[in-house]
Amino acid sequence: MNIQNNKVLSFDDVLLTPQYSDIKSRSEIDTSIELIKNDIKIKLDIPIISSPMSTVTEAYMCNAINNLGGMGIIHRYNTISFQTKLCSYVYNTSLKSAAIGVTGDYKERLESLYNEGLTIVCIDVAHGDHILVKEALEFINEFYPGLFIIAGNVSTADSYERLSSWGADAIRASVGSGSICTTRIQTGHGIPTLQAVIDCDERRKQLILEGKKAAYIIADGGIKNSGDIVKSLAAGADLVMLGSMLSGTKESPGKITVNNEGKKVKKYSGMASKAAQKSWRGSYSSIEGVSTYVNYKGTVSKVVNEIMSNVRSGMSYSGARNLLELREAIFVQQTQNSHFEGQPHIYRK
Ligand code: IMP
Repeated sequence: MNIQNNKVLSFDDVLLTPQYSDIKSRSEIDTSIELIKNDIKIKLDIPIISSPMSTVTEAYMCNAINNLGGMGIIHRYNTISFQTKLCSYVYNTSLKSAAIGVTGDYKERLESLYNEGLTIVCIDVAHGDHILVKEALEFINEFYPGLFIIAGNVSTADSYERLSSWGADAIRASVGSGSICTTRIQTGHGIPTLQAVIDCDERRKQLILEGKKAAYIIADGGIKNSGDIVKSLAAGADLVMLGSMLSGTKESPGKITVNNEGKKVKKYSGMASKAAQKSWRGSYSSIEGVSTYVNYKGTVSKVVNEIMSNVRSGMSYSGARNLLELREAIFVQQTQNSHFEGQPHIYRK
């Protein structure tokens, strides 16, 4: 048996230790991030990307997230003409972002989106450390050098290094962590998001020392609260990608319905779930996700403002004025009892 690492950390396995802070107001805290590729500069005020999923991101979500200082990626589970139309509805011309695959019509899709002003492309593949992703990255860098390229997903340092060397500008880290994901159950494969970010960041530091290209890191999947966002950013992620946390909002695609308990709900589906596959291509195979209903949350600005207020508070606990300083934060591993104590336990018997 070949065991490389006998311990992997998930968000709930760690805590950040409070540090001395001279930050007097949360307004002193800067959560911005600049993504740079040659002469492309993408400035975001908040490090949040909405996930390219059919129940999370279309143009309405992109515009709302852009207004809040983050970014949205339009999903690819639709026709080329529909996706291109959605891309045309994104007002911020420097943040037109869309996802593509690596097979079928992906080159025509890319060309059509590019003609609509695409600036950021996301190669959206469950197993990103793959020859087809290498070929797609080489193709895009050769024929569309002005695009900023997000690729993934990967979960190990070696995969991160390969995708960086193939020309990815930002890499989605983690496999099998999503709230709607069954990849680990179906395939036995995956690495928790926190561990994937830690490993990719460690390799990034090494690549930078060697003067090699090192892509930005996006923590993607399994982020269930603002604490997990702070932990992701402290562990080395430049950005976080959110699915479930932004699902069920006014701006997420889909209808509001009322469930048996009289609660307003919206659908949230894994893109490899039976329901999602059936709805976008009429059939299904290798199901690796589930579909469910989540409570309606109201506007995305309400949700994101609350998240960011908590993130700023988290940065203040670590004495960090910006996201780079947050990387100096100190983690400890916690016990199950400590995790239990961290929940509002007054309700438990
Ligand atoms: P969440 O934020 O925990 O809900 O996870 C969202 C992430 O799960 C997405 O950004 C994708 O990386 C991943 N994902 C989306 N659909 C599926 C699926 O059907 N199976 C496995 N992973 C998925």
